[in-house]
Amino acid sequence: MWNQVKEGSGRPGSVWRNSLFCPCFLGILGSADQGGTDPVRDGHPAFSPSGNHRTRPWRRRRTRAFALVAAGAAVALSAAACGGDGKKGDASGDPKRKAPGASKGGDGNGRRPITIAFGGDTHFQGKRLRGRLASPGTALGPIASTLRAADFTMLNLETAITTGGTKAPNKEYTFRSPPSAFTALKAAGVDVVSMANNHGMDYMETGLRDSLSAIRKSGFPVVGIGKDEDEAFRPRRFTVKGNRIAVVGATQVLDDHLAKAWTATPGKGGLASAKDVPRLVQAVREARKGSDYVIVHLHWGQEMRECPLPRQKDLAKTLVDAGADVVVGGHAHVPLGGGFMKGRYVHYGMGNFVFNGVSGQPDTTGRTRLSGVLLLRLDGGKVTNATWKPAHLSGGLPTLMTGAAGAAELKRWNALRGCTGLTARP
Ligand SMILES: [Zn+2]
Repeated sequence: MWNQVKEGSGRPGSVWRNSLFCPCFLGILGSADQGGTDPVRDGHPAFSPSGNHRTRPWRRRRTRAFALVAAGAAVALSAAACGGDGKKGDASGDPKRKAPGASKGGDGNGRRPITIAFGGDTHFQGKRLRGRLASPGTALGPIASTLRAADFTMLNLETAITTGGTKAPNKEYTFRSPPSAFTALKAAGVDVVSMANNHGMDYMETGLRDSLSAIRKSGFPVVGIGKDEDEAFRPRRFTVKGNRIAVVGATQVLDDHLAKAWTATPGKGGLASAKDVPRLVQAVREARKGSDYVIVHLHWGQEMRECPLPRQKDLAKTLVDAGADVVVGGHAHVPLGGGFMKGRYVHYGMGNFVFNGVSGQPDTTGRTRLSGVLLLRLDGGKVTNATWKPAHLSGGLPTLMTGAAGAAELKRWNALRGCTGLTARP
């Protein structure tokens, strides 16, 4: 077991903090350098006191006042936990905690700029990937260094967490992983995953029970799944370098014959269904309260299709209008485009990430091996920069592409934005 610190904040959402993989142990300090390969870069100033980046100036004022009050006590706590300048050591779930270092840039209220990372669909299916869980500390391979270098990292966990359960009927592919999957994710620097996807309940109700039990026992933050609808839609909250982040997960993809059994309701456990748009909007509005950034992670899209479906575009717009700052997800097994919508960031599909080549359809082009890491810079209440780092899967594990191949794939990926309606800059 890792050295896990739980902090009873007395509120729903995350009370999880990683201390073992604190950067003071890893020697990774400061923010991820976004280098010169950014397909998207802007020169927007940091948060303006006029608060005109959002139509909720009252919230900003309250946020800043709250942050100032909270700053003093939290500095000592964070410094004690992680030497005071860690990249991930201050990703606590307690909004009263705050990272030190208000003097190191940021908005003057203790919120320092951060880089958050996203990867696509992840499971531990098949002999090779399952075998890697024998050494969970290194199970995700070399990509872990990229994930750890970000201040906050999220993936889609496309599997039930169980060693038992009953296979979903009439389903061609069913995925399950033992609870050591959470150990592996945590070791790789992953801070939260969504299990709202078309494999999260592959082992039906008993698999769900095991998954929820593993989540509880590990303390690993998971969104999009729960013992009932409220829990499945409940935002998980984190504070990273003074930035209060709320994360919601939901899925637009559910097999028709399983949708009823898998969808969480007020009286039944399951997944957060993005087909219930008003309920998802309600979750986003709830997440908006008391947070600086709202991330919505969606399972969406159509297998092997590189352009977003109309229902993806509609939902992205609805969620951005409801207050989401970042709307990201995947499912298609191939990367889709990403970009800005009204100053917020949307990514329609990050492709496979840690994944065996199971797509349900033959892939003669090798596109299901294309993957990537999305890095977003959050500064002053805005997404100020976005970087797609192309990766290539080998043995089910992603490796960043470099040189001419990386440049070519980045160019191809940027072209995918053409059918998204999104813009390269905020
Ligand atoms: Zn999927």
